[in-house]
Amino acid sequence: MNAAKQAPEAELNDQEWADLLSPARRGVLAAALAAGGLSANALAQQATPSAATPGPAPTPRRRPNGESPWGYETYREATPRPASVRPGEQHLPREPRPYTDIESYHAHIYFDEDTYEKAALLRKWTAERFKVELGNWNHEPRGPHVTPSFYFGFSNDLLPVIVPWLQLNSLGLTILLHPNTDDPRADHLYYTLWVNRSQPVNAYAMKKPGPGEDRVEQIYPNTRPSVKIETGRA
Ligand code: ZN
Repeated sequence: MNAAKQAPEAELNDQEWADLLSPARRGVLAAALAAGGLSANALAQQATPSAATPGPAPTPRRRPNGESPWGYETYREATPRPASVRPGEQHLPREPRPYTDIESYHAHIYFDEDTYEKAALLRKWTAERFKVELGNWNHEPRGPHVTPSFYFGFSNDLLPVIVPWLQLNSLGLTILLHPNTDDPRADHLYYTLWVNRSQPVNAYAMKKPGPGEDRVEQIYPNTRPSVKIETGRA
């Protein structure tokens, strides 16, 4: 039966995802998110509903007498409206954003200690076939990316080939495809395409380029394709 055939693979993928969110890794994620300034909102909701409000200095987590470090009146605290993590997007836009604002794309390929060989293979295949800007390995969280990753940037004209190519050659890896406009935070959080499962991206603190910086992230291809892209039996 098809269902019986597919079951082991599905279980494996679910287990991989469960491993990704294991307590140890959740700790790493929490640290990365906290470092990026997300603590006042998402993280604090788990810790205490009043974390967005200025309060007393942090209390030691352990009390020798077994008392709660938060006291016993937390349920009485007011519920302030948190500051938006989407500044500038509180109002409905009057008209659509021109798609021509997209100047290029990035593909970020995520992996871990169990899937790095798949990432290496996909990286090699990509460099052999596409003229892209291939970044180096990120063995630790880097920028808004909270797991090991690598990326390649590509020009808009490659999009109609790269998207289906990645769909069929992801090897099950999680891949973030984001455009490059003049709004990097939105590029990473709201203008995204994902291949397979999505995962957290800590881009809330990303800002638009300042004076003297490129208005939009630029792509400088550094690969020399040597393999013709496979197109089927013909
Ligand atoms: Zn990127």
